[in-house]
Amino acid sequence: MMAKLEVCARCGRFSEVTGIRKLCPECYIRDDKDFEKIREYLYIHPGAQVFEVSEKLHIPIPQIKRYLREERLEIIEDDNLFLSCESCGKPIRSGILCDNCKKSNPHDFQTFYVNNTPRKLLKKVNYIPTK
Ligand SMILES: [Zn+2]
Ligand SMILES: [Zn+2]
Repeated sequence: MMAKLEVCARCGRFSEVTGIRKLCPECYIRDDKDFEKIREYLYIHPGAQVFEVSEKLHIPIPQIKRYLREERLEIIEDDNLFLSCESCGKPIRSGILCDNCKKSNPHDFQTFYVNNTPRKLLKKVNYIPTK
C-alpha cells in the first residue's frame, strides 16, 4: 500500500494526513483534544469571545475559525466580521455558506466543498469525527 504524504496543516511535517482536516494522526488527536477544551470552556463561560478563548486556551485563531467552518462551533452574533459566507460575503455564524446561499444553491454546498478539496482526499469527504 502506498502512503500519500502531505504537509500536516498543524505541525507542518510531512505525514500521511487523515480526513478533510489534513492533519497527521498525532495532530488529529491533539486537534480533537483542543476542541474538547473549547467545548468545556464555553460550557463554563457561555458567550466567551473568540479572542478570549484563543488566549486562555492557547489555541490559534485560525484553528478556531476552522472549527467554525466545520460547523463544530458557532458564533453567537449574526452580524460578526469574523466569519463570512464564501459565496456572497455576508457574515455567518458557522459553516461555509450563509442560509440564503445554501437555500438558493442546495447542491452547490457539496460541490463547493468538494471543489476545494484536493482530489486525493475526495473519498474522505464524508468522514464524521467522533464526538
Ligand atoms: Zn501534524
Ligand atoms: Zn451567502
